[in-house]
Amino acid sequence: MTMNDTGGDVTFADLGLRPELLDVLATLGYEEPTPIQREAILPLVQGHDLLGQAATGTGKTAAFALPMLQRMPPPGDQSEQNGPLTLVLVPTRELAIQVSEAFHRYGRVLGTRVLPIYGGAPIGRQLQALKRGVDVVVATPGRALDHIRRGTLDLEGLRTVVLDEADEMLDMGFAEDIEEIIAAAPEDRQTVLFSATLPPRIDGIARRHLRNPVRLEMGRAAAEGQTTPLVEQRAYLVARAHKAAALGRLLDIEAPTAAIIFCRTRDEVDQLTETMNGRGYRAEALHGGMEQEQRDRVMSRLRAGTADLLIATDVAARGLDVEQLTHVVNYNVPSAPEAYVHRIGRVGRAGREGVALTLAEPREHRMLKAIERVTQQQIPVKRLPSVADLRARRMELTRGALEEVLIQDDLAPFHAVVESLADEFDLMEIAMAAVKLAHEAGGSVPDEQEIPEIAPRNVEKRGKQWESAPDGRRVTRSPAGGMARLFFGLGRSAGIRPQDLVGAITGESRLNGRDVGGIEIADRFSLVEVPQNMADEVIDALRGATIKGRRTTIRREREQRRRTRD
Ligand code: AMP
Repeated sequence: MTMNDTGGDVTFADLGLRPELLDVLATLGYEEPTPIQREAILPLVQGHDLLGQAATGTGKTAAFALPMLQRMPPPGDQSEQNGPLTLVLVPTRELAIQVSEAFHRYGRVLGTRVLPIYGGAPIGRQLQALKRGVDVVVATPGRALDHIRRGTLDLEGLRTVVLDEADEMLDMGFAEDIEEIIAAAPEDRQTVLFSATLPPRIDGIARRHLRNPVRLEMGRAAAEGQTTPLVEQRAYLVARAHKAAALGRLLDIEAPTAAIIFCRTRDEVDQLTETMNGRGYRAEALHGGMEQEQRDRVMSRLRAGTADLLIATDVAARGLDVEQLTHVVNYNVPSAPEAYVHRIGRVGRAGREGVALTLAEPREHRMLKAIERVTQQQIPVKRLPSVADLRARRMELTRGALEEVLIQDDLAPFHAVVESLADEFDLMEIAMAAVKLAHEAGGSVPDEQEIPEIAPRNVEKRGKQWESAPDGRRVTRSPAGGMARLFFGLGRSAGIRPQDLVGAITGESRLNGRDVGGIEIADRFSLVEVPQNMADEVIDALRGATIKGRRTTIRREREQRRRTRD
């Protein structure tokens, strides 16, 4: 079986998942199963063995976790036996943690007990947890084998063994351990094998240990030839913590007329929309949880040009055709090559040129390679624009704006100003001063922080270097370099949103939305970061102004703290 079809309309409910799990998925904002989930869930629930070719980013973890959870006893009805029903073997500690977290996230409502087991961690806690009883063990092979030999991991009641990232486990020398572990599992177990690649050694394992497996492979033919050369494709490797900043940087450089940004889940759409609005972009959310009327409104704002970013899930963007679109951005690597092809097909239509940008976390690099293979097109990995690039680009935009004014030639009213200055200054100097003013009015930013570069050669070893800090908008304990923090006496209880604060600041002062840094909105007050050297000007400018129809105190945050302490 190959995953060629885009098979749009299959829902999680169609896959027969129990209501508790459907609720969890809805809460997580998963709108539809990914191709691998569509193909894998049902056979796994039915107890079939499975051999799946899938890399990180395809949604493969949920593809095996959900069927395992589907068969867990209802809460409070755990059986007498202590050993796990499911054993997942993974190559690395990072993956053990990640997969455990996924099981926990999906299975919490069912009371499923999940235990990660890996080398390097204190064995005492693992022993205690094993004694209390577990439903799912996610382990690296070496440590799993330790426990099996000690008799502390009881596989008697095991129903399923999952080998996740099997090729990686073989590369790391776990072949013999895996054989020994499988030999310790019951004969009539279910065996599931996922691997990004299917070299002969994997086939060997499959032949020895899988019985009539369902075979899933990434579709090969489907996507070929559908992309048009008019779409310029590029990718950027970015750690998770820096994605929002990277997106902003790219948008500033690319200056799209209108762009659509694809996210995986509803939550991600909502969060990113808020973040981008907080940074001064005009972004609208579009996802499957919205009423038709809301969606129509969003689309008309995009068409009318009062919004320039559309942040959407695949489901919501299906069938969407917006003429103005110049850019498609994948905020993460799509879950299948077909999804990638569909997404980038939104631009470059009818002979227009388009740009497709993909932000990939280091661990998603493999998925990117898979997309290249299937589409038979290169997606070159580029360096993110640096602060210097951004400055150069802003300078270029200022130059362009000046050129336009020069061509329009309605400069007569300014003649006298230049003439009077020319008595005292050199014409070149006057021109430079005028350019400086124009440039600063165009929103030049003092200094932005560099986004750490990830060299492509590091990325194949996945999981090591990616960070999991929350993304962008929140203010940190102390303001970023060169920034001051302002206290506003209005907060969530007054209905304040980030865009209200940014709107007030940019409306009343010389600041541009992009100058505004982190924003945090508490119940009764808000904190906003602005460039240090502009803080007083912003305070002055906002004196007497109203936000959402209400007057507010505004001052530097530190002053406020000092006063409370006094
Ligand atoms: P994986 O390939 O298992 O590493 O999953 C990649 C990411 O996709 C994870 O962050 C999941 O939370 C997310 N994900 C998995 N399935 C879905 C889905 N059906 N819809 C949206 N996001 C998903």
